Amino acid sequence: MPDEAPNQSPPFVDVNLFATDVALQEAVKREGASYATRQLEEFGALCGSAESFEQGRLANEYPPRLRTHDAQGRRIDFVEFHPAYHACMAQSMAAGLHCGSWEGSANEGQGANVARAAAFYMTAQMEAGHCCPITMTNAAVPTRLQPELAAIWMPRIMSRDYDPTFRPAAEKASVTIGMGMTEKQGGTDVRANTTRAEPVANGGPGGEYILTGHKWFFSAPMSDAFLVLAQARGGLSCFLVPRHLPDGTINALRLQRLKDKLGNRSNASAEVEFHGAHGWLIGEEGRGVPAIIEMVTYTRLDCAVSSAGLMRLALATAVHHARHRNVFGRKLIDHALMTQVLADLALDVEAATALVFRLARSFDHPEDVRAAAWRRLMTPVTKYWVCKVAPMMVGEAMECLGGNGYVEEHNLARIYREVPVNSIWEGSGNVMALDVLRVLQKEPEVAQIVMHELADGVADDRQLEAAYERLVGLLHDPRLLDARARELTELLALTAAAAILRIHGQADVADAFIATRLAGPPNQTYGQGLERANTTAILQRVLP
Ligand SMILES: Cc1cc2nc3c(=O)[nH]c(=O)nc-3n(C[C@H](O)[C@H](O)[C@H](O)COP(=O)(O)OP(=O)(O)OC[C@H]3O[C@@H](n4cnc5c(N)ncnc54)[C@H](O)[C@@H]3O)c2cc1C
Repeated sequence: MPDEAPNQSPPFVDVNLFATDVALQEAVKREGASYATRQLEEFGALCGSAESFEQGRLANEYPPRLRTHDAQGRRIDFVEFHPAYHACMAQSMAAGLHCGSWEGSANEGQGANVARAAAFYMTAQMEAGHCCPITMTNAAVPTRLQPELAAIWMPRIMSRDYDPTFRPAAEKASVTIGMGMTEKQGGTDVRANTTRAEPVANGGPGGEYILTGHKWFFSAPMSDAFLVLAQARGGLSCFLVPRHLPDGTINALRLQRLKDKLGNRSNASAEVEFHGAHGWLIGEEGRGVPAIIEMVTYTRLDCAVSSAGLMRLALATAVHHARHRNVFGRKLIDHALMTQVLADLALDVEAATALVFRLARSFDHPEDVRAAAWRRLMTPVTKYWVCKVAPMMVGEAMECLGGNGYVEEHNLARIYREVPVNSIWEGSGNVMALDVLRVLQKEPEVAQIVMHELADGVADDRQLEAAYERLVGLLHDPRLLDARARELTELLALTAAAAILRIHGQADVADAFIATRLAGPPNQTYGQGLERANTTAILQRVLP
């Protein structure tokens, strides 16, 4: 009968994204956010509901549209979103994903970044594109605005009521914040920025400037304000550039067009020109990079968390499918080679989860020397490895669904198109690897602290100790040049993940991860080297 659907796996919806994720629950507990368990469980049910997944689908199926002018021909530079996008935003903001770690109330702020990361990991599974304005708003909080600017913006950033109306900030219940750094001639090398900023009067911290120039990538352009880098007389500087001016008129940000992107389609990414736009200086002239770098550090954490979340959803969907689909008279999951593939994928998800939540904890204790060292070195390491492995991992998970994996109605196709962006923006792979070298050269004590911490985790495991020794050798190689930066970064990520899994994780997972990622012959594809691993135990953890 044509209406029957024999041997098709049921939709992977109405799953609690927290209660079904053992690795996530363990990470939340281990890294100090047990206090948030109940809220996370509720949020996991919400994000994993059929309705939420449908919102995510619609938000991508009907991407944003730019309206440059109104009916009378006046510039409005307005981007229209599908209601489903607004629903995702409202849901994430109500959960405080744009501000919750700064509230300092629950558990006296302890574990707040871990709890937020857990919720972020789940909302990314529901819909990843809207995470862009959420993460930028959260990351803008530590920016040191002058008191008169902070008085207007901070209470509204901290509000959990989503207000998508296009009005001056002073009239709104809440605001979101974006960032503008990348220009046509360079994104990584922001020193090459050509956008100019001239003071209206004397200039200086908090002063008003007129900006002329452009940004080549300008995501979430309906944000209420942006942190923008531009050249002032004193050098590259950071400005708060609102969409509306205090007198209620629209600031001169001309949205030229929206990027036609591979994925991340629910999120608008514009090209913008500043035609004498007004901006207010943050900090001193010439100190633009230090002013914005803290924001970038937080967004790097979120890139890794989001990628780990998407990896988890891809894995869970693949395991769910393999448990339902029959091939040659048996469930797919009972075929030895498929078991190996799925277990191998699970190992990378376990490692990614371990790394991102360990990193989130280091953001919870900025005053602690060891935490600060972990945050400084392991932010680029974690972003590099998790975001790099995600596209490969999701591609293999997609294949586990066969042809269905490649079809848009199944979630995997969208995830597959989404994941590469996390590796590109907020510092691409090479930039992360070079940042690791920069730490070694400029802050060698930071690397020493992290290595000391790792030493405890590798003790008594011969293979892990050997990997650690290789790492020490690389770190002390006087000829350590840019060309080996990726090798070093990857080895740091694998060793750190293995150490965390070994100390705190389940032995079957840790042993298999160490055996396949740090010992044995290097493999370029999944599903190899696990003949002796307890794949049943590894897979049982994926969806108990
Ligand atoms: C969907 C999307 C949304 C975005 N939204 C925003 C936004 O809202 N605001 C914003 O400011 N930017 C945004 N970006 C821009 C993004 O941050 C940049 O694309 C990114 O930083 C890389 O800059 P670039 O494109 O100029 O490439 P380049 O800087 O030219 O880099 C190209 C390649 O060269 C590598 N590279 C750079 N330097 C070195 C080196 N010294 N040695 C070896 N390799 C090197 C990089 O790793 C990269 O792989 C967005 C990008 C995308 C894709």
